[in-house]
Amino acid sequence: MIKANFPIEKLKAIETPCYYYDIDLLKETLKKVKEEAEKYDYLIHYAIKANANPRILSLIAEQGLGADCVSGGEIQAALNAGFPPQKIVFAGVGKDDWEIALGLDHNIACFNVESEAELNVIQEIASNKGKIANVALRINPEIDAHTHAKITTGMKENKFGINIGLLNDALSELTKFKHVKLIGMHFHIGSQITDLSCFENLAIRANEIQDVLAMQDVQFETVNFGGGLGIDYHHPNEFPIASFESFFSTINRHFVRRKGQMVRFEPGRSIVGPCGTLIARTIYVKEGETKNFVVLNAGFTDLMRPAMYNAYHHMENITSNEEPEVYDVVGPICESSDVFGLKVELNRVRRGDLIAIRSAGAYGEVMASQYNCRKLPRSCFSDTL
Ligand SMILES: *Cc1c(COP(=O)(O)O)cnc(C)c1O
Repeated sequence: MIKANFPIEKLKAIETPCYYYDIDLLKETLKKVKEEAEKYDYLIHYAIKANANPRILSLIAEQGLGADCVSGGEIQAALNAGFPPQKIVFAGVGKDDWEIALGLDHNIACFNVESEAELNVIQEIASNKGKIANVALRINPEIDAHTHAKITTGMKENKFGINIGLLNDALSELTKFKHVKLIGMHFHIGSQITDLSCFENLAIRANEIQDVLAMQDVQFETVNFGGGLGIDYHHPNEFPIASFESFFSTINRHFVRRKGQMVRFEPGRSIVGPCGTLIARTIYVKEGETKNFVVLNAGFTDLMRPAMYNAYHHMENITSNEEPEVYDVVGPICESSDVFGLKVELNRVRRGDLIAIRSAGAYGEVMASQYNCRKLPRSCFSDTL
């Protein structure tokens, strides 16, 4: 197992819990995703919800990526970070009126619409403003993403998207609307998808839908395949960059792109996940009857994924070279679910040791809460530490 290279002396001096972001890795990842997408002229919209830390956002905006937002607050965060409005797309099953208005006021590129009810409201608000909203229909392709039940989104029974059976209703509704312009179709089948055959199936389903619609003389300017590419939580040092190459080539191999069609993606986790590490301090090593606990000063208020999804994060004791021992690693919060990992092998832990909880750059800091009146976690960056 390769060990990570942390600036340990500097980290010993910071206030914890703290998200440490490896800026070189983020830049390398952005370079790679751009290189691979450019091969096929694909457009990338970073999914803001994975990590909205202002420094991270501006680094991503600087590289010329677009943004995928799921709330008015995220649209504002994207604008503040320098994403141009014409590169912002807006998804979400429950867009409130003010959020739609905000998108229209800034002339964002596209609303990814999830229901007929929403189309009606966009039409009304756009009409009042004398504007035309570009929309893409988020279609439920009924592709099983083979991922955790709480993060699969492309099936019929999920709250997201428009079922294929209702697509024609939405299309005929659209012909009545003068302030809504249909420009595309949108998919997002789930998250942390590591089985690329899911994306192959998605591309094939997109072809089928395009074929059916072509018979009705409907052709889209854009097709958006959403996000979902997974990262390797088990081997953060060995595989620090997601497999963008095989991801895009899978889509390219199977998707029949129509002439002049724009193809968009919305990766979130795969861009920011690996570059973030939650640094926590050991408050106590508690010896139980049958096991030993490492009690950290970070809990699920700082990193929710293990408690919410039973997610695995690789952990390392970065301040010890002693022989490994096995611990249950827990947080201080008064809930039994406040556990980062069971039977975790760590170099022998003593009070004060720093534990690095790896691959925490996505859905980490953004999900932090102040439950138990706790402070929000800090953040720091490899290049300014
Ligand atoms: C969450 C989300 C994404 C990003 O998903 P990742 O798995 O982080 O890549 C992209 N598009 C939409 C619509 C989303 O809701």
